[in-house]
Amino acid sequence: MAKMYYEKDGSLELLKGRKVAVIGFGSQGHAHALNLKESGADVVVGLYKGSKSWETAEASGLEVMEVGEAVAVSTVTMILIPDEKQRKVYKEYIEKNLKDGDALAFAHGFNINYGQITPPANVDVFMIAPKGPGHLVRRVYQEGKGVPALLAVHQDYTGKAKNLALAYARGLGALRAGVIETTFKEETETDLFGEQSVLCGGITELIKAGFDTLREAGYQEEIAYFECLHEMKLIVDLLYEGGFERMRFSVSDTAEYGDYVTSKRIITEETRKEMKKVLAEIQNGEFAKAWIVENMTGRPVFNKRKEQELNHPIVEVGKNLREMMSWLKK
Ligand code: NDP
Ligand code: MG
Ligand code: MG
Repeated sequence: MAKMYYEKDGSLELLKGRKVAVIGFGSQGHAHALNLKESGADVVVGLYKGSKSWETAEASGLEVMEVGEAVAVSTVTMILIPDEKQRKVYKEYIEKNLKDGDALAFAHGFNINYGQITPPANVDVFMIAPKGPGHLVRRVYQEGKGVPALLAVHQDYTGKAKNLALAYARGLGALRAGVIETTFKEETETDLFGEQSVLCGGITELIKAGFDTLREAGYQEEIAYFECLHEMKLIVDLLYEGGFERMRFSVSDTAEYGDYVTSKRIITEETRKEMKKVLAEIQNGEFAKAWIVENMTGRPVFNKRKEQELNHPIVEVGKNLREMMSWLKK
């Protein structure tokens, strides 16, 4: 059973007298900065001159400084800019402004786990990784509740890193829901595996394979879109609310029977074997290395695959069908 923490385990007292620099004001950044501020923490947002986010952050009542300055005036720095940009910003502006006993924090373990950022030995390093997108983290906090998060300590220089992480999680609202203890390694590897094999890579390829099969068999592509993509949300909502049990309770018995007899013909032993290989490449750093090189060389694979995917027939059908769905956000 995982170790869990709740409100009683975190004290905002530990943030008193400390200034928190939230670097970046995007999805996670705006949620962390605003939630912490409303919880009583002294927050400054760190951005670069000319950043699109600068005005937005100021307009929401936050103090904004350039990254280096924000780190210099703070004793806790949470890095919330895109993972692939963190190494450079850390090297240029953060590292030299860290002081003895400061804390450096992350919402994902990639850069620490794969050695892209190596903090000095005289700072605490922790992670509070919300298990939800930033806009949900913000909205749920405003409703008086919280989104669960993961906590990990990579380096405990002061002997108080975990308590500080818990205080941060309290300010963010995460302890209202519950915080699970993990390690940078476990969080990073499971996160990458999940998004590649199931959440992003797995699901899009499954949808496309189903869509292509129906389309190539001569069925109308609009119908194929509804069956293989649109209805996915209805099923995922049920899974999210009540697991496999609620989904199977809600669908017809015909669908449930089809689920039982067909599933293993689709996700085969071969798929499971490949998943193990994917996991091994995440564990041994091969995937991380490829992604780092990709970013250093102008993203050739990323851009080419993006282009290919945009040319798949499901894109055009989807665009047209979603025009009919007045309830969808544009
Ligand atoms: P975003 O892409 O939303 O971050 C964008 C923000 O970073 C913008 O404010 C942007 O400014 C700013 N930024 C970009 N480059 C720089 C720079 N060089 N210096 C200063 N600021 C810069 O990031 P996310 O919120 O998606 O991700 C942040 C972290 O949180 C990552 O580690 C991610 O893995 C993690 N995470 C993200 C989740 C999510 O829901 N997205 C969920 C859980 C964890 P500008 O407006 O000028 O571009
Ligand atoms: Mg991820
Ligand atoms: Mg059906």
